[in-house]
Amino acid sequence: MLKLFKTILKAGNSTVKYPFAPLEVAAGFRGKPEYDPEQCIACGACTMVCPANALTMENDVVNGTRTWQLFLGRCIFCGRCEEVCPTRAIALSPEFEMAVSNKADLYQRATFKLLDCHVCHRPFAPQKEVEYAMALLVQSGLTEAEVESQRSRFETCPECKRKQNMNQRGNVMLSQHLSAPTTREGERS
Ligand code: SF4
Ligand code: SF4
Repeated sequence: MLKLFKTILKAGNSTVKYPFAPLEVAAGFRGKPEYDPEQCIACGACTMVCPANALTMENDVVNGTRTWQLFLGRCIFCGRCEEVCPTRAIALSPEFEMAVSNKADLYQRATFKLLDCHVCHRPFAPQKEVEYAMALLVQSGLTEAEVESQRSRFETCPECKRKQNMNQRGNVMLSQHLSAPTTREGERS
């Protein structure tokens, strides 16, 4: 018996002390997604790639809002949302303890204002996303005045933009967008 105790003492602990002591997880561990609504521009990229439908987005055209929602009960911790988020508003954390006594606590939501189209006055895109796109152009070298002068174009919905680019026969006016004329094979330009 004494020999057995000696062997046990020599071997030391072979199990972790969790839950009586915090558990250290390995680097790169994929735990609970952490979301920062301040960073989020409501672009919807994460909701498009979430394989488990844990992330969803809904537009309320009457009130002109978009609601982003995460339901942790469906999350499979794949990390696709983190990969596609352009602003790092969502990222997986080392947190793995998610037990709740109320199912409602597994939901996280954020609401964003939708911008009304400059032409048809219908809500079409999150205000924050449009401002972000304009800020990116300034960052890429355009002046603030140059970008601001195009505000009405940024604030026009895709449908109205398409209509503005159509001729009377319903075809897209390509010449409006091409800097050089297109030539067919065998033709001289
Ligand atoms: S980790 Fe995967 S399943 Fe969970 S919210 Fe992100 S994309 Fe969806
Ligand atoms: S991808 Fe990022 S910025 Fe876009 S809606 Fe999801 S969390 Fe927000």
